[in-house]
This record gives sequence, C-alpha cells and structure tokens, in this order.
Amino acid sequence: MRCGMEGMVLAQTQTTMDPVTTAVSTHCPYCALQCEMDLASEGDRIEVGGRLCLKGWTAAETLRHPDRLLSPFARNAAGSLEAASWDSAIDRIASAIQKTQASCGRDAVGVFGGGSLTNEKAYLLGKFARVALGTSNIDYNGRFCMSSAAAGASKALGIDRGLPFPLEDIPRAEAILLVGGNMAETMPPVMQYFEAQQRNGGALIVADPRRSPTAQWATVHLALRPGSDAALANGIVHLLIRDAVIDREYIDSRTEGFDELRQLAAAYWPERVEAITGVPQRQLVEVARILGQARTSMVLTARGAEQQSRGVDNVLAFINIALALGKVGRPFSGYGTITGQGNGQGGREHGQKADQLPGYRRIDDEGDRRHVAAVWGIPEPELPGRGKSAYELIESAGEPDGIRALIVIGSNPIVSAPNASRVAERFERLDFLAVADFFLSETADLADVVLPSAQWAEEDGTVTNLEGRVIRRRRALDPPGQVRSDIEILCAIAKALGKSAHFAFGDPESVFEELRAATRGAVADYSGISYDRIEREGGVFWPCPADSHPGTPRLFETTFPTPSGRARFHAIEYLGPAEAPDEEFPFYLTTGRLLAHYQSGTQTRRVAPLLEAAPEATAEIHPHAAKRYGLVDGARLVLRTRRGSAVFTSRISPDIRPDTIFAPFHWPGESSANRLTNDALDQVSRMPEFKVCAARIETDE
Ligand code: SF4
Repeated sequence: MRCGMEGMVLAQTQTTMDPVTTAVSTHCPYCALQCEMDLASEGDRIEVGGRLCLKGWTAAETLRHPDRLLSPFARNAAGSLEAASWDSAIDRIASAIQKTQASCGRDAVGVFGGGSLTNEKAYLLGKFARVALGTSNIDYNGRFCMSSAAAGASKALGIDRGLPFPLEDIPRAEAILLVGGNMAETMPPVMQYFEAQQRNGGALIVADPRRSPTAQWATVHLALRPGSDAALANGIVHLLIRDAVIDREYIDSRTEGFDELRQLAAAYWPERVEAITGVPQRQLVEVARILGQARTSMVLTARGAEQQSRGVDNVLAFINIALALGKVGRPFSGYGTITGQGNGQGGREHGQKADQLPGYRRIDDEGDRRHVAAVWGIPEPELPGRGKSAYELIESAGEPDGIRALIVIGSNPIVSAPNASRVAERFERLDFLAVADFFLSETADLADVVLPSAQWAEEDGTVTNLEGRVIRRRRALDPPGQVRSDIEILCAIAKALGKSAHFAFGDPESVFEELRAATRGAVADYSGISYDRIEREGGVFWPCPADSHPGTPRLFETTFPTPSGRARFHAIEYLGPAEAPDEEFPFYLTTGRLLAHYQSGTQTRRVAPLLEAAPEATAEIHPHAAKRYGLVDGARLVLRTRRGSAVFTSRISPDIRPDTIFAPFHWPGESSANRLTNDALDQVSRMPEFKVCAARIETDE
C-alpha cells in the first residue's frame, strides 16, 4: 500500500535517498500491510524511502548485516557447521532424501514453509514437495497464524480472503468491532484508516484483554477474559435480536442457519455473558446499541480471537454478528480478518498447506487433483494426499509413521511453535535437517545443511497483501556472496533428485505463469493476473479469472461462493479454553507481538534501532498482581506453565487485566514465551492455543 493519508503519527517518512542513485519501488518485507518502499543503493549504502513504521525504515539493515549467511554450511564429523560448496551441499541434501525415502517411505521426508515466502516460492514449495519428493508431508508456519480465520471464513462465507474489501472502505464504516487485534503496534500505518473513520464520526470498539495501543484508540474497550470470545459474540447477538436491530430481510434472502443461532443466543443473556467474559453488562448493551444503529459496520478479527484451540468457533461466532446485521457484502461493511505475515494471504493460497493445492484447490477433490496434475505434467494418482499439519508434522519426528528428515524454508519453528521445549526435542530426533535462511536462525543452528537464501530486495516476485491485492516485489540489488534465491535452491535439489524436467524455471515470472495456469477456475483464481498488469494497475485483486477481468476488490455483493449461494450462520456454544487458571497456575498468560519486532525475531533482533527500542522480553503485569508478588517495574519475572518456564523483565501496567499476563514471543532460549504456550490444537484448523494458558509467577530461582 502507499500510505498517502495525512495526519498519521505512527509512521515515519524517510527521505534520505541519495539523489544520484535510481530508486527501485518495492514493498517492505515484514507485515501483511506491505507498505510501498523505495530502495536505492550505491556501493554498500542502501537507502530506504517511504511512509513506513520503525521496522520498515530499518529493514535494509538486514541486507548487508555481518551475520548474513554468505555460503552453504554443512555439519562435519566433529558436529560443527563448516562452509561447503553449493554442489556438495545440494548433493548431501539429495542423498539424505533418497536414503530416508528408500528406507522409510516417501512421507518420511517433510517440508516446512513460511508465510513470508512470495507467491512464487509458496507455489513452488508445494510443487516441490508433491512432485520432486512425492511426500504428503508439507505444511508451514501460517498454520500458526491464519488457519483459524481461513477455516472460519470458508465455512461461513465460502471463501477465505482476509479483507473482502479494500482498506479504503474502513473510514466510511460507522462502527467497527475489532477483536484481538493490535495494529497500532504491529502495523502502525494502517491506523490512518481507523483514525479517518473516527474523524468521520465512526465508533471503534476493541475487544482485547489488554488496553493495548490499539485499544487506547477505541471508543469502547471490552477487556474480555482470555478465551471467552465466543461468549462475547453470542452475548452481542442476543442483544441485537432482543433489541430487534437485526436485518431480517437480509437474513431471509442471503443466509441460512439463523434459527439455530437464535435458539442458542437466547441462553447468552447479559448477566451470564458478564460472568463468563468479565465485560460489564452496560458495555455489552452499549456495543449492541452502536452496532445496531450503524448504517455501515465491520467486524474484524485478528490473532487474539483466532490463535486458540477454539479459534475457528470464535471466528464463526463473530461472523454471525456481521451476518445478523446484514452487513456482509454491503458497502463499507462486512467481516474481515487482519492478516499478519508479509505474504500471510498469498502464502495460504498456493499449496504449502498439508490439505491444499494452488488457488485454494483441495488435495482431496478429484477435479482439483486432475487439474493441477495436468499443469504439473504428472499422472493424477502420483499426487500425494493430505499430510500432517504443522505442529503434528514436527510432533511426528522420529515416530514410526512420522518424518525422519525435514527441509525448512523461510521459517524458525524452534522459536515460533508452541511448547517450544518439546519442539526442540522433536527436532533432535530427526536423522536429517536442511534449512534455507538468510541468518543462522535458532532452527538453522540445528541443521545438518544450511543454505544461504536471498532476501526480499534481492529477488523478484509477487505477494498478496491483507486486502487480497497481488503486488510486485522488485529486485533492487544483487545478493551478496554465494547467496541464491529459494527458487534456485528448490530447482537445484529437484535436479539432483532427477526431476529437473518439472522444475525448469528461468526466473520468478516463469513460476508465476505456471501458478496462473494451476489456479485457473479455482477459488483464488490468479489466471487473469500478470506481472505486466500488476505494473500497469499498481496491483490486482483476486479472484481475477481472465486478462480482461478487472479483478475483485469487493466480494459477496450479490452472492456467496457456497453451494447454496448463501452465507451460513453457525450456532457456536462457548466451551472455554483448553486450560484455565486454577490454584496451582492462577493467571491467564497471553502472548503477542511488539512494535519493534517481527515473528521469531531472526531479522529484527539483529537491527540496532529495533533492539534499542525493545532490547529484551518484557512481560506485562497489572499493579495489583505485581504487588502481591512484590514485583517492581524492571524486576526479573519467572513465569511457569505446565510446559516449562521462561524469564522476562516485568513491565507493570494498569492496561492489562489483573488476572492476565502478556508476554511477547520474539525471543528464543530462556525468554521464549513459546516454552510456556499450550500445544492444544483447534479440531478444524489445527491452530495451537497461543493466546490462552494458565501460568504462575515463580519467585526467582
Ligand atoms: S512492518 Fe508492516 S506496517 Fe511496518 S512498514 Fe513494513 S509493511 Fe508497513
């Protein structure tokens, strides 16, 4: 996006571009907002221009960082990683794959991808797993990010596109209910749209256990108890029905399943909902009044509601509100999810999920299999079936029917997966691990072979931002040392496995051309999108089924892509989180991101201004709780859950519920919040419960 609106105080414009160099227009490597960025380089100097947040305008510091991996590394007989040639590294990976598959079967080799990979890489990784390796076992870290929203939106609305409307619709929504999102910190420039909405007289309602920087913008802040989201949603539906502000005509003509929801919602009267959620009845009534009176309104969810073992239920429960109000598919209204990772949208569309083929095609659908097999030039029966989801893939390492070898590209699951100590144990059981990354991440540090990958500014490609707009990443400079792109890496391994005929790609555009063919006629149809069109039009919204099609900025205006053409209500009973506080572990622990860091911190913990802004892992705790434990601001704080313990620095703040502690998950080792998180999985999405578990404060050990 180009952040062109005035009055935005949370983004900064960097204008130190050297006028003698030619700037290349590309996009920030970090979050799904994908802000436009101009990069100019001369010698070792790289200048950044654009209206960006702190992470964006310091992003170029990773490009020539001294920690950059500049050649392949392989583990020697003494157990150390030492520099290796590309030929020997690729040969070693290919022989490990062949040996493992010969003795334990094709599925014994797994692939783990990432939500920051470009569309071309995500697509090629899925093809690599199925065609070069013949394994069903591929999944990616987006399973830990967007899978609940994706499953919920698909069930209720028939399609998963984060926002089914452009960001520019937000200022004209008279009311917005945002659940579990903190964009003022995670993607600050997007707040310009919410600021404009408020300037237009709109109301912003934020539901979050913390009075986060985003909640501080809110007209109403609902400090709900962690894990009580579905009860909150049902309570709001109860009041909308009671106050007769639902849109009966819309419900009758465009939806199905409302009667079951009406019966269920009858049991969520305000007193009961207050008891479950901790949200006062007067606030529930106020929120129902605001939503009921708004002519245009949006319901938005984010990871707070979604990263739970009932994350899909939570999403469905909040979609019910937007449908009951008759707002989905109406102007400046609807339901959306705020996608997190850089290519969190495109990364979940093109086949790096265990159950999916490109364009959201299903791996267990006969027609979808035939189409993709034909594009890939293989007989349909050779396409593997559904594999294990991300956490289950790792969990299976070393088990009789599990993986024995793993290839990781663009991900650091040792830090980002839940119950991290157990994940580290599982990695130790692997016979072989190969990792492609640009730094020696905590996961790469365990690998037998490490391959140096190109970064965002060193290669071409496309990403799909949080609105569903396909945009161009452009190469601004050459990769350093012996660094290669992930596309070159995958093609080289495929060649070593004797599969080069299927991986003869000269550049990212040729991969994109094949992606277009593979998605033709699919839910996420990119067949009408080309690099030329993206250049000319500044991005194209999918679905775009033909060269002459204008793209689809707004979905659901006349129908839903469901079998009946209608959206579906779901009657979701509140069941609570997998683990609630008790005498032994009396606090809720919830986790999340900070302004200065991104995901597992592999990049941002190496950028001096970001480290200066957030040098260590701090845990936020309410003054009442701190007093009980004799904690002062800045004190060492040891948290323990049933999975393990981790050490933080206390940040005492009245902005968090007294029964809840918040910890960021960007740090590894003894400050790893994911040593504490619960690996209970959502039954549908297989999303782990990152956002709720029971914890206790331990006196220093
Ligand atoms: S991190 Fe996100 S919000 Fe910040 S500059 Fe990059 S894309 Fe924009």
